[in-house]
Amino acid sequence: MSGGNLKIVNPADGSIVTELETDTPESIQENFECAARGQREWAKTTLGERKKILIRFDGLLQKGKEELAKILTSETGKPIRQSRGEIGAVSERIRFFTDNFEAVMRPETAHQAKGLEEKISFEPLGVIANISAWNYPYFVGANVFVPALLTGNAVLYKPSEYSTLTGLQIVKLMTRAGVPANAFIPVVGSGETGAEILRHPLAAVFFTGSHATGLKIAQAAAKRLMKVQLELGGKDPVYICEDVDVAAAAAAAAEGAFYNCGQSCCAIERLYVHEKIHSGFLDELLEAVQGMKVGDPTDPGTDIGPLTRARQIDVLKDQIEDAQKKGGKILCGGKPVSGKGNFFEPTVVSEASSVMSLMREESFGPVIGVQKVAGDEEALRLMNDTRFGLTAGVYTGDRKRAEKILSQADAGSVYWNCCDRVSPRLPWSGRKDSGLGLTLSRRGIAAFLQPKAWHLKN
Ligand code: NAD
Repeated sequence: MSGGNLKIVNPADGSIVTELETDTPESIQENFECAARGQREWAKTTLGERKKILIRFDGLLQKGKEELAKILTSETGKPIRQSRGEIGAVSERIRFFTDNFEAVMRPETAHQAKGLEEKISFEPLGVIANISAWNYPYFVGANVFVPALLTGNAVLYKPSEYSTLTGLQIVKLMTRAGVPANAFIPVVGSGETGAEILRHPLAAVFFTGSHATGLKIAQAAAKRLMKVQLELGGKDPVYICEDVDVAAAAAAAAEGAFYNCGQSCCAIERLYVHEKIHSGFLDELLEAVQGMKVGDPTDPGTDIGPLTRARQIDVLKDQIEDAQKKGGKILCGGKPVSGKGNFFEPTVVSEASSVMSLMREESFGPVIGVQKVAGDEEALRLMNDTRFGLTAGVYTGDRKRAEKILSQADAGSVYWNCCDRVSPRLPWSGRKDSGLGLTLSRRGIAAFLQPKAWHLKN
């Protein structure tokens, strides 16, 4: 791997926003050594000091929200309203971490007897790598770098090559807030740059991205026996029962499937609809989807912008073609929008079934498959018929019924009458091919600490 240039492309029109110099093996080596020194110093700062700095960082994010949102939209195509929304909402996550990390780090007395004390203290892991995705760079980044820094780790932070400008802004504001430049260090580049980082003896790698890359990360981590945490993709199902307000459920499903152009790890990717309301639900779903405004992501009225990565267009085309061959019916959309940019028509496919790649592999775009089901048993069987396990949801007026189904859903997060939702207070984890380990919640803070067992005799 050698250094080079990274072109930042605007997915809405294909124009080059700017070019950045990428890191080289030599600069990564230097960054690693610098972070190792920086971590020792950073860990000596008081918890109160770190807390103040991270709260200041949040303040700077919120103050710069408008400009930061424009940058995010220019490199990912995320509709500007949603870019602003992400930066605004990351505040709640940062505050959760700053409010809770001290309690998680508090030493515990495990046993006390005459002449003997056993206690546990919690220490930072050391230098960690944060290799990140582009679809929610503030959310998925903050899940890692905020608790990592609060608990005294140093971070080599590699933003995705599709959201590097945002990553560099984050680093700039972190430094301005008071995090030493050698405790939070950006690494610029694509996959091979990420792989280069992992050649160093890091304490851990925290990764957000695709399952395919996650496997490579796990293999690289195994060679050095470093801790590995993976937040990967999903194929998240939602079951709509026959007792719902059909229009409201359809509107919620459309939002859950198409928000951020369907590029959310926990977007609804499969819809199972009770046969009693199936036809009416499709009508309402179509109305909701066709009411979404597709276009210029800088326009505050836009709901669906371009796909961030041009290559995803072929994935969607293949899934739709495969679905059609196997009996799927395209109710709307189905193809790329002609003209400049990576736009794809919001697409609804009915008569979908589990033999279609549309219902098996992550689409990560504005496409949803809908399958009719006879009842709860069939719905549950189909929901669990997947190699992924990130989230699963049920819409029904009956909480008991929802809880019965969701208790059997093999997913890290389950939703009753909601979807596409992440809370800082709850653990965020994927089962099966959706990941390893967890972020968020107090448990997600503990992931950045290692326990030390004290045996004290007098
Ligand atoms: P990706 O796997 O293509 O890339 C993720 C990161 O890994 C990037 O920074 C990339 O440069 C880096 N990378 C690529 N190859 C590497 C290698 N061999 N070694 C080290 N680093 C390497 O994923 P993406 O397109 O950025 O993100 C989309 C995926 O992320 C989707 O599958 C989505 O579901 C998933 N995701 C999951 C969550 C979650 O919380 N579970 C959140 C957001 C996104």
